[in-house]
Amino acid sequence: MISPNAHLASLPVYEPGRPIEEVARELGLDADAIIKLASNENAFGPSPKAVKAMRDVLKQNHLYPDGSGYELRQAIARKHGLKMEQVVLGNGSNEIIEFIGHAYLGFGDEMVISQYAFAIYELVARIFQASVVETPAREYGHDLAAMRQAITAKTRVIFVANPNNPTGTCVSASELEAFIRSVPDHVLVVIDEAYQEFQPSAPDTSRLIVEKPNLLVMHTFSKAQGLAGLRLGYGLASMEVAAALQKVRQPFNANLPAQAAGVAALEDEAHIARTVKRVASGRAFLQKAFARRKLRCVPSSANFVLVQVGNGREVFEKLLRHGVIVRPMQGYKLPEWIRVTVGTPSQNRCFLKALDAVMATF
Ligand SMILES: *Cc1c(COP(=O)(O)O)cnc(C)c1O
Repeated sequence: MISPNAHLASLPVYEPGRPIEEVARELGLDADAIIKLASNENAFGPSPKAVKAMRDVLKQNHLYPDGSGYELRQAIARKHGLKMEQVVLGNGSNEIIEFIGHAYLGFGDEMVISQYAFAIYELVARIFQASVVETPAREYGHDLAAMRQAITAKTRVIFVANPNNPTGTCVSASELEAFIRSVPDHVLVVIDEAYQEFQPSAPDTSRLIVEKPNLLVMHTFSKAQGLAGLRLGYGLASMEVAAALQKVRQPFNANLPAQAAGVAALEDEAHIARTVKRVASGRAFLQKAFARRKLRCVPSSANFVLVQVGNGREVFEKLLRHGVIVRPMQGYKLPEWIRVTVGTPSQNRCFLKALDAVMATF
């Protein structure tokens, strides 16, 4: 029997949020009655302009998309004040993380991450046989000084998600900028800004690329733009780093509807502003509700809240039976916690009602 590469044997399988249809099948529930607050999607839906743009290109789907992604990369470059050659498209920003592995990681290399970092970083390190150096968190967030200290001659990549997933913490603009400037030139410093829109004071660090050729900033259309199903994200970097990532990219990784929707979504600032406002109010509602129930939560700068419920796995399982999907956190070594995405007002109320019923069983 042919065996896969040996280092894959101990590789954990990433556990995504449970899909609605799967939970419906398994528990014999009606899919329409299930609420998914498990993957930090936009509960208010995609930009209507992006939906129209996708509809408009459906009849051209017998053709390959523009392999260079010209229009979308131009639009992204304009938004960030960069050149098109500094923009790399990904099939979700998760794919950009994989490009980093292809371009910069190998056996013997080190990746520095924080405790409670996004799980995909470590997964990619291990796929490319790099080792992971994890620094302890500070109040569930990044300890940037400790991360800086952990850099060695073998370090190739360092990741900071700001705001962070799964904890929702954010570091200040001045702290982050000082940190980026302090990272030595032999290390690629990656700032993952998947949730940047939700924290208006979070800096757009792409401004620093001009002085830091070893900086890579990642963005996604999956969260504030509400296009998680489409799979679209991008990386911003110096010409040199962007060129290295382009080399390992499949030419059609950003598909035709995705490129069209991306351009429209970038222009639809009203949709993003509406989303951000609604998320802030839903987040405040949930955080207050947790406080009233004496449940500890980490103050969040994103569209989800990490809350300490006791036995996270059991609460997750029991919530499923009430038709509410959240995310258990034992994979992040936070077994007492669940992560819940901010939903619509009615979804948030349904979740709290189910949570109250579940907590009463303990
Ligand atoms: C959701 C998320 C992403 C984006 O994932 P996509 O592949 O673009 O859907 C990236 N980083 C973090 C930390 C995230 O939570």
